[in-house]
Amino acid sequence: MTGTQQEQVHLTLKQAYQLSFDCLQFNGCDDANAHAATQCMVTAEGDMCHSHGLFRLPWYASSVKSGRVNGSAKPSVKQLAPAVIQVDGDRGFAPIGHGVGHEALADCARANGIAALAFVNMFHISAMWPEVERLADEGLCAFAFTTSYPYVAPAGGMKPLYGTNPMGFAWPRHDAPPLVFDQASSAMARGEIQIAARDGHLVPETAGIGPDGENTTDPNVVLQGAQLGFGGYKGASLAMMVELLAGPLIGAALSSEALEEDRGNGGPPRGGELIMCLDPGRFGDPDNFLSHGERLFSDILSQPGTRLPGARRFVNRERTAKEGIHIPGSLFEEIQELIG
Ligand code: NDP
Repeated sequence: MTGTQQEQVHLTLKQAYQLSFDCLQFNGCDDANAHAATQCMVTAEGDMCHSHGLFRLPWYASSVKSGRVNGSAKPSVKQLAPAVIQVDGDRGFAPIGHGVGHEALADCARANGIAALAFVNMFHISAMWPEVERLADEGLCAFAFTTSYPYVAPAGGMKPLYGTNPMGFAWPRHDAPPLVFDQASSAMARGEIQIAARDGHLVPETAGIGPDGENTTDPNVVLQGAQLGFGGYKGASLAMMVELLAGPLIGAALSSEALEEDRGNGGPPRGGELIMCLDPGRFGDPDNFLSHGERLFSDILSQPGTRLPGARRFVNRERTAKEGIHIPGSLFEEIQELIG
């Protein structure tokens, strides 16, 4: 650690890993669970997706300490049908379930051409690019969906019902990291609205409505009212689709049910995630799908002003591996206090 600069603490990724691992272990995670959750947060920090990085650590530590989350979870895999697998997360954090399910899903997709994995009974599915990117690294194409807590109103409605329900997609590439996008179905991420409220900034009128149903640019009013789907009713329909796929389809909670279960304690949501995986080698153009995809990417990039989704993260990943990361000094102190 090289000390603080402008209230930021510099850490190498290795130091960030150790800090998180020690904190989770001290608060009740066994080695395997502390490792999986830490790996996920440090990966997010490395890609500079801070809202899924160490920012989450105090929340994770307190939910293990309170017993809400099982810090010794041992997720189990069950084959429900030839192309359908279920992972029961044993009330642990999602990353340990992801570790257990990955190979089973990849093998099942290669055997059948298509496979689905339903994760149930696990806490806080965070950013979704790690799981889909890993599948595309192995030549597979993948989609992921999850719910959260009710923040988004249905089209025309005034009360929060859907989560900000993200979708992830990954496509394999030749000699390049996979093409990955991962985005909420709300116009703005919840965290961005909270940060705007904290910093006294306005939000776009499309972000949400107040309790009276009127559009507003005041983030505090949106937080009391409801967020809106991106693109109006179209985003709301996608949020609804994600609720169905990651909830009733797989036997997991709706966003509203996850909140009821938490009883307003502010812990991470217990929910489900659906990952669908396709092996392009089993479809119509097994020898050419990669180069055919590359044609699309080069057509996109031939237009000035474009970039591929995921490109920002891959640049950040290379840089932080060499230079390390910065976290707010207040967060660093909070984590140290949690380690006692
Ligand atoms: P963003 O709007 O920041 O980005 C969405 C996607 O668009 C990313 O893949 C991003 O790639 C890509 N992108 C951004 N700008 C461009 C551009 N100019 N050209 C091409 N592609 C671009 O994400 P969100 O705020 O919607 O979500 C952030 C994260 O929060 C996600 O990882 C999501 O899974 C997570 N989330 C999790 C929830 C949960 O309950 N678990 C709920 C809601 C969100 P790049 O990364 O390279 O910038």
